[in-house]
Amino acid sequence: MNKIDFKVTTKEDIAPICPFCEKELEEVYIKTKGLGLLTGKNVVYFCPYCSKVLGVGQSRMA
Ligand SMILES: [Zn+2]
Repeated sequence: MNKIDFKVTTKEDIAPICPFCEKELEEVYIKTKGLGLLTGKNVVYFCPYCSKVLGVGQSRMA
């Protein structure tokens, strides 16, 4: 009997994995920087485990 050495797990939502510490991220931390008046805020997404920056974006929220 052949045993296939993997299993398939069905998930509704896929947890992203930090590329640095390879932990599954159920949440990411964000930090906003900037005045946010005309230019919008810079939003920094970072890993809650190792604090490495995962990405940056812009938020137009005041
Ligand atoms: Zn990490």
